[in-house]
Amino acid sequence: MKKNIVLLVIIIIVIVMGLFLGCDKSSEFDNNFITEDFFALGTIIQIKVFDVDTQKAKKAIDESIARVTEIENKMTINKDDSEVIEINSNAGENGVQVSYDTFYVIKKAGEYGRFSEGAFDLTIEPIVKLWGIGTKQARIPKDEEIISTLSLVNYKDVMLDETNNSVKLEKKGQAIDLGAIAKGYAGDEIKRILMDNGITTAFINLGGNVVTLGNKLDGTSWKIGIQNPVEKRGNHIAVIEVIDKTVVTSGNYERYFIEDGKRYHHIINPKTGYPAEEGVISSTIVADSSIDADALSTAVYVMGLDKGLDFIENMDKVEAAIITKDNKIYITSGLRENIKISNPQFTLVEQSLIKGE
Ligand code: AMP
Ligand code: MG
Repeated sequence: MKKNIVLLVIIIIVIVMGLFLGCDKSSEFDNNFITEDFFALGTIIQIKVFDVDTQKAKKAIDESIARVTEIENKMTINKDDSEVIEINSNAGENGVQVSYDTFYVIKKAGEYGRFSEGAFDLTIEPIVKLWGIGTKQARIPKDEEIISTLSLVNYKDVMLDETNNSVKLEKKGQAIDLGAIAKGYAGDEIKRILMDNGITTAFINLGGNVVTLGNKLDGTSWKIGIQNPVEKRGNHIAVIEVIDKTVVTSGNYERYFIEDGKRYHHIINPKTGYPAEEGVISSTIVADSSIDADALSTAVYVMGLDKGLDFIENMDKVEAAIITKDNKIYITSGLRENIKISNPQFTLVEQSLIKGE
């Protein structure tokens, strides 16, 4: 009898221990999230909020979705009307008074035009339209068309009047396209709204622009895969670990067409009017602010490997990973501890090694 009781106690202890050991804390926490997918700004946006208070999480997500819709309605050039469309249709004639949001994003885009010496240019729209990449009308324009259209591309022709938030384009035919920066702004705004609602842990993905809030609930960092440019979405070649940062990639695999074996993609070099051709296939930026990371990923893609890496190496709290056609991943020095190659066909090269320091 006594023996049986001892056996029973042992069995109970083993079961209880088993329950505790089998209970992975992170997966228990991982179930405490609410996720919402929606379509805006030309892409699928996913907001994943980790919080035990599902009501609070739901409210924060709903407010974020409303905010993204508001940003899209103000800045899109793919609908009938928006503030940016209004600016474009008044080009060469009148300044247009716009909301704080649109003014802020245009001002930032102009600053990145200057910082990048024109590699990033918000007035690229006429050239983007000419190529039509990602639309049914996509085609290779004639050289004459490119040359004449290029005369309309110049970020210095965007006149801002801070006194009344108005924007004027100097020449008729000029037009603004915020496609390289608006998603970044939306990402920052989602994060701000989640934080205002008391959320401390979230993962936001705007079609490849990732924004993280805090660290994972188990205390570890978020692991963000860098897309393999030559394989289906979801195949990554490296993993970057971040806490509370944003990771934004510009790549030639996002929108393109192929003619006579050549790939024509959607990131345009404003100096040539052709898709940027510097041997780069993707450029990833890790930063605190997503509007900065978005503008920089496009700018670095256009600048190419050497100029792009130098540009980012000289910036504070911003890092870059650039993938080139010969399967190399070049990184700025601050990424060294946070990146791991996950596909052995690619090799890692660090900025300081390139310079021979
Ligand atoms: P992203 O994917 O952020 O690099 O943005 C690419 C989009 O930005 C394109 O689809 C164009 O609408 C626009 N774009 C293309 N080239 C440039 C450029 N050099 N500067 C600014 N915007 C650009
Ligand atoms: Mg961008």
